[in-house]
Amino acid sequence: MDALVLVLNANFEPINVCNTRRAVGLMLDGRATLVANGRGAIQTVSRSFPLPSVIRLEHMIQRPRPRVKLTRREVFRRDNYTCQYCGRKVSNLTIDHVMPRHLGGMHTWTNVVAACPACNHHKGGRKLEESHMILLQPPREPPASASYLFGLHLVDNEEWLPFVSGW
Ligand SMILES: [Zn+2]
Repeated sequence: MDALVLVLNANFEPINVCNTRRAVGLMLDGRATLVANGRGAIQTVSRSFPLPSVIRLEHMIQRPRPRVKLTRREVFRRDNYTCQYCGRKVSNLTIDHVMPRHLGGMHTWTNVVAACPACNHHKGGRKLEESHMILLQPPREPPASASYLFGLHLVDNEEWLPFVSGW
Protein backbone atom coordinates (compact mmCIF):
# COMPACT_ATOMS: atom_id res chain seq x y z
CA MET A 1 0.00 0.00 0.00
CA ASP A 2 3.05 2.23 0.07
CA ALA A 3 3.67 1.91 -3.66
CA LEU A 4 3.51 5.28 -5.38
CA VAL A 5 0.64 6.31 -7.60
CA LEU A 6 0.77 9.09 -10.18
CA VAL A 7 -2.09 11.57 -9.80
CA LEU A 8 -3.37 13.32 -12.92
CA ASN A 9 -5.50 16.43 -12.92
CA ALA A 10 -8.87 16.26 -14.67
CA ASN A 11 -7.13 17.46 -17.86
CA PHE A 12 -4.59 14.61 -17.56
CA GLU A 13 -1.75 16.88 -16.43
CA PRO A 14 0.40 15.00 -13.88
CA ILE A 15 0.26 16.99 -10.66
CA ASN A 16 1.26 14.78 -7.79
CA VAL A 17 2.42 11.48 -6.46
CA CYS A 18 0.71 9.75 -3.54
CA ASN A 19 0.75 6.30 -1.97
CA THR A 20 -1.65 3.53 -2.88
CA ARG A 21 -3.62 3.90 0.32
CA ARG A 22 -4.47 7.52 -0.46
CA ALA A 23 -5.15 6.76 -4.12
CA VAL A 24 -7.59 3.99 -3.28
CA GLY A 25 -9.26 6.33 -0.79
CA LEU A 26 -9.75 8.95 -3.49
CA MET A 27 -11.22 6.34 -5.81
CA LEU A 28 -13.58 4.95 -3.18
CA ASP A 29 -14.75 8.51 -2.43
CA GLY A 30 -15.49 9.01 -6.11
CA ARG A 31 -12.94 11.81 -6.33
CA ALA A 32 -10.64 9.97 -8.72
CA THR A 33 -10.85 7.25 -11.33
CA LEU A 34 -8.45 4.55 -12.33
CA VAL A 35 -6.35 5.30 -15.40
CA ALA A 36 -3.73 2.56 -15.25
CA ASN A 37 -3.74 -0.56 -13.18
CA GLY A 38 -1.03 -3.09 -13.78
CA ARG A 39 -0.40 -3.95 -10.16
CA GLY A 40 -2.98 -6.61 -9.53
CA ALA A 41 -5.83 -6.27 -7.10
CA ILE A 42 -6.64 -6.10 -3.41
CA GLN A 43 -9.49 -7.99 -1.90
CA THR A 44 -11.81 -6.13 0.44
CA VAL A 45 -14.63 -7.69 2.39
CA SER A 46 -17.15 -7.17 -0.38
CA ARG A 47 -15.18 -7.00 -3.59
CA SER A 48 -11.92 -7.08 -5.43
CA PHE A 49 -10.38 -3.72 -6.15
CA PRO A 50 -7.73 -2.93 -8.78
CA LEU A 51 -4.48 -1.52 -7.42
CA PRO A 52 -3.88 1.76 -9.24
CA SER A 53 -0.65 2.91 -10.78
CA VAL A 54 -2.14 6.09 -12.27
CA ILE A 55 -5.35 7.83 -11.24
CA ARG A 56 -7.13 10.92 -12.52
CA LEU A 57 -9.02 13.46 -10.43
CA GLU A 58 -12.67 13.93 -11.28
CA HIS A 59 -12.55 17.68 -10.73
CA MET A 60 -9.93 20.05 -12.04
CA ILE A 61 -7.58 21.41 -9.40
CA GLN A 62 -6.36 24.96 -10.01
CA ARG A 63 -2.89 25.65 -8.81
CA PRO A 64 0.00 28.01 -9.42
CA ARG A 65 2.68 27.04 -11.90
CA PRO A 66 4.83 24.43 -10.17
CA ARG A 67 8.44 25.20 -9.33
CA VAL A 68 11.27 22.89 -8.44
CA LYS A 69 12.11 23.25 -4.77
CA LEU A 70 15.62 24.46 -4.10
CA THR A 71 17.28 21.64 -2.17
CA ARG A 72 20.76 20.14 -2.20
CA ARG A 73 19.44 17.06 -3.92
CA GLU A 74 17.74 19.08 -6.66
CA VAL A 75 20.82 21.25 -7.23
CA PHE A 76 22.97 18.14 -7.68
CA ARG A 77 20.37 16.69 -10.00
CA ARG A 78 20.12 19.90 -12.07
CA ASP A 79 23.90 19.92 -12.41
CA ASN A 80 23.94 16.25 -13.41
CA TYR A 81 25.93 15.35 -10.27
CA THR A 82 28.90 17.16 -11.79
CA CYS A 83 31.17 19.79 -10.25
CA GLN A 84 30.32 22.94 -12.17
CA TYR A 85 33.92 24.16 -12.02
CA CYS A 86 36.06 21.16 -12.98
CA GLY A 87 33.44 18.91 -14.55
CA ARG A 88 34.22 15.91 -12.38
CA LYS A 89 31.51 13.59 -11.11
CA VAL A 90 32.23 12.98 -7.45
CA SER A 91 30.10 11.37 -4.78
CA ASN A 92 30.80 13.97 -2.12
CA LEU A 93 29.54 17.07 -3.93
CA THR A 94 28.99 20.26 -2.02
CA ILE A 95 26.88 23.34 -2.64
CA ASP A 96 28.79 26.46 -3.66
CA HIS A 97 27.31 29.95 -3.62
CA VAL A 98 28.76 31.59 -6.74
CA MET A 99 28.48 34.99 -5.08
CA PRO A 100 29.45 34.12 -1.50
CA ARG A 101 26.74 34.59 1.08
CA HIS A 102 28.93 36.83 3.24
CA LEU A 103 29.16 39.16 0.23
CA GLY A 104 25.40 39.27 -0.13
CA GLY A 105 24.97 36.25 -2.41
CA MET A 106 21.47 34.83 -2.23
CA HIS A 107 20.43 31.22 -1.77
CA THR A 108 18.68 31.08 -5.14
CA TRP A 109 18.79 28.78 -8.15
CA THR A 110 20.89 31.30 -10.07
CA ASN A 111 23.52 31.54 -7.33
CA VAL A 112 24.06 27.93 -6.27
CA VAL A 113 26.01 25.22 -8.09
CA ALA A 114 27.29 21.74 -7.36
CA ALA A 115 31.00 21.81 -6.59
CA CYS A 116 33.50 19.16 -5.61
CA PRO A 117 35.19 19.75 -2.24
CA ALA A 118 38.50 20.66 -3.93
CA CYS A 119 36.96 23.35 -6.13
CA ASN A 120 34.79 24.66 -3.32
CA HIS A 121 37.86 24.92 -1.11
CA HIS A 122 39.93 26.54 -3.87
CA LYS A 123 37.27 29.15 -4.56
CA GLY A 124 36.90 29.83 -0.85
CA GLY A 125 34.99 32.96 0.03
CA ARG A 126 35.93 34.77 -3.15
CA LYS A 127 33.81 36.10 -5.96
CA LEU A 128 33.91 34.15 -9.21
CA GLU A 129 36.05 36.81 -10.97
CA GLU A 130 38.53 36.89 -8.10
CA SER A 131 38.92 33.12 -8.13
CA HIS A 132 39.70 33.01 -11.87
CA MET A 133 37.52 29.92 -12.02
CA ILE A 134 34.99 29.29 -14.78
CA LEU A 135 31.55 27.78 -14.52
CA LEU A 136 30.59 25.06 -17.00
CA GLN A 137 27.30 26.86 -17.50
CA PRO A 138 25.42 29.68 -15.81
CA PRO A 139 23.13 28.29 -13.09
CA ARG A 140 19.42 28.55 -13.85
CA GLU A 141 16.19 27.50 -12.24
CA PRO A 142 15.35 24.07 -13.68
CA PRO A 143 12.14 23.84 -15.69
CA ALA A 144 9.25 22.51 -13.65
CA SER A 145 8.07 20.25 -16.44
CA ALA A 146 6.37 17.03 -15.45
CA SER A 147 9.27 15.08 -16.94
CA TYR A 148 11.64 16.92 -14.61
CA LEU A 149 9.39 16.90 -11.56
CA PHE A 150 8.50 13.24 -11.80
CA GLY A 151 11.61 12.05 -13.62
CA LEU A 152 13.12 10.44 -10.53
CA HIS A 153 10.09 8.17 -10.18
CA LEU A 154 10.17 7.00 -13.78
CA VAL A 155 12.99 4.59 -13.05
CA ASP A 156 10.68 2.55 -10.83
CA ASN A 157 7.47 3.34 -12.70
CA GLU A 158 8.12 3.07 -16.42
CA GLU A 159 4.40 2.80 -17.10
CA TRP A 160 4.05 6.48 -16.08
CA LEU A 161 6.12 7.69 -19.01
CA PRO A 162 3.27 8.21 -21.48
CA PHE A 163 1.37 10.21 -18.84
CA VAL A 164 4.35 12.40 -17.95
CA SER A 165 5.98 13.13 -21.29
CA GLY A 166 4.90 16.30 -23.01
CA TRP A 167 3.81 18.18 -19.88
ZN1 LIG B 1 35.60 20.53 -9.01
